[in-house]
This record gives sequence, structure tokens and C-alpha cells, in this order.
Amino acid sequence: MTGTSRKMELSAEFRARVLCDVPMAKHTSWHAGGPADLLFVPQDLRDLSAFLRQLPLEVPLLWVGLGSNLLVRDGGFRGAVIMTHGALGGLARISATVIHAEAGVPCARIARSCAQWGMGPAEFFAGIPGTLGGALAMNAGAWGGETWAHVAEVDVIDRRGATHTRSPSDYRIGYRRVEGPASEWFVGARLKFEQKPDASSDAIRDLLERRRQTQPIGEWSCGSVFTNPPGDHAARLIEAAGLKGFRVGGASVSEKHANFIINHGAARAADIEAVIRHVQSRVAEVHNVMLQPEVRIVGEPA
Ligand SMILES: Cc1cc2nc3c(=O)[nH]c(=O)nc-3n(C[C@H](O)[C@H](O)[C@H](O)COP(=O)(O)OP(=O)(O)OC[C@H]3O[C@@H](n4cnc5c(N)ncnc54)[C@H](O)[C@@H]3O)c2cc1C
Repeated sequence: MTGTSRKMELSAEFRARVLCDVPMAKHTSWHAGGPADLLFVPQDLRDLSAFLRQLPLEVPLLWVGLGSNLLVRDGGFRGAVIMTHGALGGLARISATVIHAEAGVPCARIARSCAQWGMGPAEFFAGIPGTLGGALAMNAGAWGGETWAHVAEVDVIDRRGATHTRSPSDYRIGYRRVEGPASEWFVGARLKFEQKPDASSDAIRDLLERRRQTQPIGEWSCGSVFTNPPGDHAARLIEAAGLKGFRVGGASVSEKHANFIINHGAARAADIEAVIRHVQSRVAEVHNVMLQPEVRIVGEPA
């Protein structure tokens, strides 16, 4: 079924607002990937709920925040993409130590706001170039901080558009791993911090500067591609296997940080995936360690 025929299943109101056959290269930080059948940017939570109520249940969903940890294959995604960035953007302080943020809020905004509100530690959020929704899905972390260490409660939406509130005990949380009830997605969270009257954006600036020195910031990437195996670093293993600069088509292992794969401008998702698979098999041969991708790979091959 094509994007256009799927769209005809919706009411006139949503037909007018849903986009068809949208290249996901526009919505991922790797700037690669084929078309999604449908793409919807809700106006707010109520609008999202109405959309889900009427989207036929068999249409698969792909939730996308800032696409900073996502590889969509060149054949694209057969289903509906829900974009939260620019949509679910509410952020408020609800007490001296607790904030409420909707899923589309960029993590960097959470870091900056917490510094202004005198609470923390939230600086680590500045190192995550995604949304809160993506950070909740990934248990994103940086500089010793981790998203779920701060979760008091999450708000989720199910496939029929009903919302529920859940607590961290409803999830199994690990390093870059979150397992919870099936067919639910994050629409917001209450995050708790400590009072930190001396919190300032200088700390954020320093951490970002340190990162610029060691990572290829500004190039098209998804950050670290593989999780670190217990007791070691994926970047060290990749570099020691002689893979810095290894290239397929328009994609290569970064010379600056071996756990980053760069799209030099015209990479297809297949080039990036081929680099991922080659790195996995060479590191397994050389070090006897099977690296696991941290990035989410979805969609159909071309
Ligand atoms: C330069 C660079 C540096 C990075 N550094 C770090 C780092 O230091 N630490 C770190 O942890 N990550 C890092 N990342 C990876 C990435 O920013 C994080 O994983 C981030 O949390 C992804 O958020 P996103 O909004 O971009 O999610 P997306 O890439 O849009 O989605 C990622 C996954 O989350 C799912 N998802 C998104 N929104 C929701 C939702 N609302 N509900 C349910 N599931 C959802 C998607 O379906 C997908 O499976 C880096 C990336 C880049 C490009």
C-alpha cells in the first residue's frame, strides 16, 4: 500500500495535514534514509490522541524526535512517522526540584532551563542532541549522568490514543536500554533533580567544549554507533582493529572518534549499515567481542 492510499483511510482533517512519502534523510542527523509512507506532526497531545484513534490499528508507527540515533534504510518506512520535535514542547518547573517536560523538548533546553532554575545535576542533558522522548527510549546519558536516574514518572500514549502515567518500576532500565509495556510511547515526564543554587550555564559550556575536542561535532553522524562492552570502550576496540577511516561509498569511520560513522554528504543508509556490519565482523575477528549497535536501524532495504 502506498503513502497516498494509506492517507485516504483518514478523515479529511487529518488527510490535509499528513504528509506522504517523506524522505527520512530530512529528519535524521545522518541525513540518510528513504521515504516514510506517512508523516504526522501533532499540534499537541489531544491532537496526537485524536490522530491515533483514527489511524487504522494495523499501520505501524515510528516515533521520531530529532533522529539523532536513527538509521532508516533506503527503502524507507512502511507506516506512519510521528514527529514529536516541534510538537510536544511544553517545559515547566513544578516545584523546587521537579520539572515537567513533554517528549519533544530538546534535551539541551532541559539542561539550560535547569541551570536557570537552580536545579541539577542536569548538565549532562546538554550532551544529548535529541529530544526527551528519544532520551527516555534510549536511557541516554553523558558525562556520568543518565536520563532514567531522574525520572519520577512518565506519561505514555498507547496505540488507541489513550494516555497513562507510569513509574520507573514499570520498566527494566539498563545502559542504553529501556524495556516497558509494549505499544506505548513517551509523551512526557516529570524529572527530579536536587536544588543547586550555584548551577550555571558555564558548566555546560565547558563540557560542550571538551566534547568538541574529542568528537567530530558538526559532521553528519548519530554519535556513538555501538554501546561500550563491559569494561571496555567500543572506540578503543575499533581503533585497535585498524578501522579508523574505513569507508563504504559516502560513509566512513571517523578519524577523530572511532565509534562515530560519518556521512560525508552523499552516503546511502546502505553505506552506513555496511560500515556498521564490517566494523562488527572485524572487531569480532580481532578482539573476539561482538559490538552491539546503540543506534536504532529500521525500515526496508532499497
Ligand atoms: C553528535 C552526537 C552526539 C551524541 N552523544 C550522545 C551521548 O553523549 N549520549 C547519548 O546517550 N546519546 C548520544 N547521542 C545519540 C542521541 O542523541 C540520543 O540517543 C538521543 O536520546 C536520541 O534522541 P532523539 O530525539 O534524536 O531520538 P530519535 O533518534 O528520533 O529516536 C531514537 C529511538 O527512540 C525512539 N523514540 C523517539 N521518541 C520516542 C518517544 N517519544 N517515545 C518512544 N520512543 C521514542 C525512536 O523510535 C528510536 O527508536 C549523540 C548523537 C549525536 C548525533
